[in-house]
Amino acid sequence: MQLHQVTLEENRPKLLIAPRAQIILSFYVTPPQVQFIELESFFSLAHSRIQFLRTIEGWRAQKFTPSEMDVRIAKLEAEEQYAPLRDPENDLISHYILTLAYAQRQELRNFVLGNELALFGSRLRRASEREKIRFGEFLDASGLQFQHPDDVEFALISTALKRMEEIRMLNQGRKAAEAPPVIRSRYYKVPWQQCPEMVSRRNCFLWRGSLYLIQEELPALLVPIFRTLLSRRLACNQRALPSLELADDRLARLLGSLANAHLGNDYRSAALIQGVTARNIDLHCRDSFPPCMRRMFSKLRETHHLKHTGRMQLGLFLKGAGLSLEDSMQVWREELTRVVGDKFDKEYAYNIRHNYGLEGKRVNYSPYSCAKLIPTLPGTGEYHGCPFRYMERDELLEFLKSAQCGLSDAQAHNVLEPLFRKGEPKHYHVACRAFWHALHGADPTTDEPIVHPNQFFELSYRARHDKTGPQQQQQQQQTGGATATATTSGDPAARKD
Ligand code: SF4
Repeated sequence: MQLHQVTLEENRPKLLIAPRAQIILSFYVTPPQVQFIELESFFSLAHSRIQFLRTIEGWRAQKFTPSEMDVRIAKLEAEEQYAPLRDPENDLISHYILTLAYAQRQELRNFVLGNELALFGSRLRRASEREKIRFGEFLDASGLQFQHPDDVEFALISTALKRMEEIRMLNQGRKAAEAPPVIRSRYYKVPWQQCPEMVSRRNCFLWRGSLYLIQEELPALLVPIFRTLLSRRLACNQRALPSLELADDRLARLLGSLANAHLGNDYRSAALIQGVTARNIDLHCRDSFPPCMRRMFSKLRETHHLKHTGRMQLGLFLKGAGLSLEDSMQVWREELTRVVGDKFDKEYAYNIRHNYGLEGKRVNYSPYSCAKLIPTLPGTGEYHGCPFRYMERDELLEFLKSAQCGLSDAQAHNVLEPLFRKGEPKHYHVACRAFWHALHGADPTTDEPIVHPNQFFELSYRARHDKTGPQQQQQQQQTGGATATATTSGDPAARKD
């Protein structure tokens, strides 16, 4: 089998579950055979898988070793909230929904590819290490036909293989004499093109164009095959989406809503947060705003204006952060009237009341999530969206070290690290969490990725509340943050109330 011709036989069973460990191994070649799925199950399975993969993404960005990842992923799989995904059929269905819904944008395809690959690799390693699955059976079940070397060639290479085993022992700090006996059925013969990574690492036995791998090395071979199959499927799904839209726009709408879905709290109300007022909003900005809102709020203070999308983004965030309608009016009026004068009451006040559900359809609108903000790119003179997405490296570094954010050089570089790794997509949520840690210090109990600006604010509010205690904080809020120091008029962190 050539790597570029990866095909798995359709008529074979594609799932093999280790009997005791219940580790699901699948190349997901055959689509789920369900005739009917309830809408609720459709969304709940897809949401579970997104949450699951998002947690894995956070760990990948923190560069845990494969064995650390395996321990964490095994624990995650065992959590009650992911119980439905432990069922092989649900695992298959959720994988397929995601590969369809997330096929539409490059960053989403990267998300699925990178994290599904990490999950598959971890499952393979754990299955292999615990010896709870026989790889021959999995390969057979998947239609992959790796051969054992025949008797003649095995006789020719057995001395070299024995030497390989001894070297392996020495590399593990053990004695060469502890090397296990070389048995033909433990080895697989594979064309070298299927695993160029192993050849380039020079840690395998290569003879006459074939690699001779022992069973434990097979995960390294299967992961690239999984990657090839999955990236091909994502590309096919991307091409198929427009025709799907024409055939049934309801399904297209469902998939579209999944791709932009924010999972979790929508922060329509700030039940947990009290004491955010027009008087102390600058102090809250300095202490607790995420980078996107810091940038916009500082631009509002500096230019006394924001364009429509920016006003919506910031206005809804402030509402979710606990700023009342009256205080919100006061903040916006104070700034906008300097530029628009009397037009404020006629044109702008309506939109602010609208955000609070007091005009138009009277809907209590929810603040925008990162999933909505990240794909949005600001035009000239606009500042909305996620700065981690649209700013260049140098511009970001300057912004993080400016008085708006106040990070040290080392902290700023640390925040940027998950965004500019060679050959990797940008990990916005992880960078945002690193920014949070720079403000509040490392806290292993709050490791969840940041997926909503108001989540950033709420976690920050709680961290400050825990540190300073409610009394001291109330005092600071009442004084409007007497500890804030002023430097420039456009810097929210620096304004005195
Ligand atoms: S990751 Fe989310 S919260 Fe953080 S800056 Fe970007 S949009 Fe804002």
